[in-house]
Amino acid sequence: MLGLYIHIPFCSAICNYCNFNRGLFDASLKDQYVRALLREIEREADGSPADTIYFGGGTPSLLEPSEIAALIDACRSAFAIASDAEITMEANPETVTPERLVRFREAGVNRLSYGVQSFRDDELERLSRLHSAARAADAVAMARAAGFDNLSLDLMMWLPQQTIAQWLESVDALVALGPEHASLYILELYPNAPLRETMARSKWSLAPDDDAADMYLEAMARLDAAGYEQYEISNVARPQRQSRHNLKYWTDGAWLGFGCGAHSTRRGVRWKNLASTTEYIAAVASGGQTSVERRTLTDREALEEALFTGLRLTRGIDVDTVNARYKSDVWGIYGTRLERFREAGLLIYDGRLLRLSRAGMLLANEIMSEFVSAPA
Ligand code: SF4
Repeated sequence: MLGLYIHIPFCSAICNYCNFNRGLFDASLKDQYVRALLREIEREADGSPADTIYFGGGTPSLLEPSEIAALIDACRSAFAIASDAEITMEANPETVTPERLVRFREAGVNRLSYGVQSFRDDELERLSRLHSAARAADAVAMARAAGFDNLSLDLMMWLPQQTIAQWLESVDALVALGPEHASLYILELYPNAPLRETMARSKWSLAPDDDAADMYLEAMARLDAAGYEQYEISNVARPQRQSRHNLKYWTDGAWLGFGCGAHSTRRGVRWKNLASTTEYIAAVASGGQTSVERRTLTDREALEEALFTGLRLTRGIDVDTVNARYKSDVWGIYGTRLERFREAGLLIYDGRLLRLSRAGMLLANEIMSEFVSAPA
C-alpha cells in the first residue's frame, strides 16, 4: 500500500538549528499553497490503495483544521484510503488549543507527533523554540482530552550545555507522559546554522562524544524499562504503535510526496518536487512539472537503499528475502567488509537476519558506508 506525504513548509519562527525546507508563515502564501496542494493531489489521482497520510513540515498544525480536512478529503477522492489508515500530523506544542485539536481529530487526523525536543526550559530557549516544557505537557493533555490515543513525542539529545543527567530528565518526563511513540534524535548542526554562532559567542559547548553515546544508551535502557520497544535506530513505540508511515521508508515501500521539496518513490522510480514554495505554486498553477530529479534507481542503488534502510530497523534485514528480490548475494558482496563489525559485536548475522546491535547503532553511519564503498 502507498503512503502519502504532504509537506507544509510554514513556521511561526525559524529555529536556530533547523535545516528543513521551511519558511515564515504568511497567510496569503499559505492559502495559495493549500490550493496548489489540492490540485497536485487531484492531478496524481489514480485510485491506488494507500494506508497512511503524513503531514510533515515545517509546522502543519499552523494550518486551519478545515484546510487539513480538505487535504484529507482530496486524498480520499484521489486514492483508495484504507478505513483504518494512519493519519499523522506533526504539531508544535505552542500552536494547539483544545478546540483546534478537536477539529483536527474531526478532520480525520488520528495520530499527532509533537516536536517537544526537551522538557527543560533553558534548553528550549537555547534552541530558540517558542514553547516551554509546561506548554509541551499541556499540549499532551489537550490531545488526550481531544480523543487522540496515538501520540508521538520528539526529543533531541546532545544539546549545547546539556549534561547526561539533564538529558535524562527529559527522557523521564517523556516516559511520565506516556506517549505511544517517541523519537530521539541527536542534534546535528549544519555548517551555517545560526546556533553555531550563538554557541561560539555564548561559549556554549557540547558534551564529549562518549557522553553522547551514554546519553543514547541510557535513554534507550530507560525506555526499554518503561515498556517501549525500540524498532528503529531513533524510534521506540508501544507494541503495535510503530509509525506505519515511516516504516514504509525503512522497508522498501512506496510513497508519494506532495508539496514543495517532497520526495516520492514508487516502482523503482524516485523523484523530488521543486524545493521553493513559490516555484512549486507557480508550477502547479501553470499545469507544469512540479518534480525535478526524476530517475529510475539502478539495481545496485535499489539494493543499497534496501540495505541502508533495513539496517536502521532493530529487526534488521532478512538477507534471503533481499537476495531473492534483488537477485543478489548480500553476504557474498559485503561480508568481507562487514566481518570486522561482526567480530566487534556491532553487527549480528545469523545466516539469515542481519542487524545492528545497540552499540552498533551508534556507529551506524560508519557501518552502512561499507555498502556504498564495496565493489559491485
Ligand atoms: S518548528 Fe521545526 S521546521 Fe520549523 S523552524 Fe523549528 S525546527 Fe524547523
